[in-house]
Amino acid sequence: MKNIVIFGAPGSGKGTQSERIVAKYGYEHISTGDVLREQIKEGTGLGKTAKYYIDNGQLIPDTLMVDILARTYDGFGKVDGVIFDGFPRTIPQAEALKAMLADRGTDVAVMLDLEVPEDELMARLINRGKTSGRADDNEETIKKRLDVYHSQTSPLIEWYKADGKYHHINGLGDMEKIFSDICVVIDNAKSI
Ligand code: AMP
Repeated sequence: MKNIVIFGAPGSGKGTQSERIVAKYGYEHISTGDVLREQIKEGTGLGKTAKYYIDNGQLIPDTLMVDILARTYDGFGKVDGVIFDGFPRTIPQAEALKAMLADRGTDVAVMLDLEVPEDELMARLINRGKTSGRADDNEETIKKRLDVYHSQTSPLIEWYKADGKYHHINGLGDMEKIFSDICVVIDNAKSI
């Protein structure tokens, strides 16, 4: 079992690369952002709460997220791997993920940090906003999301280094090259 955390700032390409990993390895994929957007579309109570935070570029409270994550994870049957995309985003979420996986006799195999320079992130997200229909892909909210990334999410880089799971990936340039760098890390990761 390979549990893979795909990490990076908004616009770093986590979703795109996750799709390619799924296509090649047949792993399950949890995108917490997609789960929340689905809840908003369905108009559930959780969706209503989530909308407030998402539209303001803020993170949804950890306790809610951990709950959603465990439920989604337990909904998967027996699989060779799971990709965590957009989770964890805070240190308490990383700790909760480790504890949840430990309860199930497993752990994170690798954390892939897709690094992309700030000006490129901004340009990609503004461009994405033209077609994504996402309420949070506008310049003002993008700036808030990048601030939240720096203050609350980027400390996870040191956390995963300390846990021995960290792998840097250059997220700028040719998509094939980025994906092949990712595959090298996944292929060499130990199944846990
Ligand atoms: P994403 O699609 O990953 O860019 O997520 C879009 C938005 O959903 C974020 O800006 C947050 O408001 C919310 N969100 C997604 N994942 C998380 C998470 N792990 N913790 C808190 N909020 C999240």
